[in-house]
Amino acid sequence: MYYIILDMEWNQALDRAHTVQQPILLRGEIIQIGAVKADEHFNLVDTLKINVAPKYYKKMNRHVEKITGITNEMLAKGEKFPEAFKRLKEWCGEEFRFITWGFDDIAMLADNLELHGLDRSYGSDYVNLQLIYKNQIDNERVQWSLADAVERLQIPMDAQAHDAMNDAWFTYQVCKRLDMEKGLAEYSGMSAGQRPVIAREIFRDVADIRTITTDERFTAVPCTDECQNTLTNGEWLSMGAIRKTNICTCPKHGEFLVKLVCKRAAADRWTVTRSIYRSDEEAKSGYLKKLEKQHAAIERRRAAKEAHLNSPETNSETENSDDDNSTV
Ligand SMILES: [Zn+2]
Repeated sequence: MYYIILDMEWNQALDRAHTVQQPILLRGEIIQIGAVKADEHFNLVDTLKINVAPKYYKKMNRHVEKITGITNEMLAKGEKFPEAFKRLKEWCGEEFRFITWGFDDIAMLADNLELHGLDRSYGSDYVNLQLIYKNQIDNERVQWSLADAVERLQIPMDAQAHDAMNDAWFTYQVCKRLDMEKGLAEYSGMSAGQRPVIAREIFRDVADIRTITTDERFTAVPCTDECQNTLTNGEWLSMGAIRKTNICTCPKHGEFLVKLVCKRAAADRWTVTRSIYRSDEEAKSGYLKKLEKQHAAIERRRAAKEAHLNSPETNSETENSDDDNSTV
């Protein structure tokens, strides 16, 4: 099994009006892939750099050009994304796990895969190295730039920053200076609840929180960005009276994790905060597991109630109520 330390650069629309909306809302189009392949002990195995020719954002956004040093001529010479991805996939092999600095790269990869009709879940079981870095080196900050980490760990800065290959190389150097065995073992605990919030809305002066999962004010969740869709809700999961969770879906933009959290503002008034996160496999499996528990608890209560009804004193008429299971 390999660790693939991945970094990508992407181009953006020249302005908001030129942002591609179909087939997906395209926040960025990948123009460079840089990767370092390491073995399980983080010994260097290989490196890969691919320049990608964009299909939609063919003109360099001036801001992106300034950061990356990638010019229009370089863009034109790149490989097309499907070929570039095929090469990356072959190079990664069957057993690998991506390591990236931050959450953005894999989200961007997923969007670009979907853009080209490919499987957007590729590599989604990745590791955000920032969380291990935070845990082992710098717990004080809220945000950690790769440049900060490079400086703090005294990694020699001899390459041009923000070239995808160089950033992948620096990220690899950060790995080598951390206790990755420990970090990876603890990772799933660190990553829980660390998803970046996409949108947050606050509802004040809510009188009754018992009805929030049936009240459209809270349950009609708009898809993010310019999308006009209202998300299709799954089943609301109750984590006590004040926390509700759901996985909601936009046909165009995929699944989102939606959380409602109630806080008492006055004796008879509540504040409800609705937060939307991009869902991933971990969020989904956690949600499904808890939902199963919720169903089991409902079933237990129902069975207890029924046992009570069927007891000789109450003399219930329903003898075989197993048919009711389908409604749970
Ligand atoms: Zn949408």
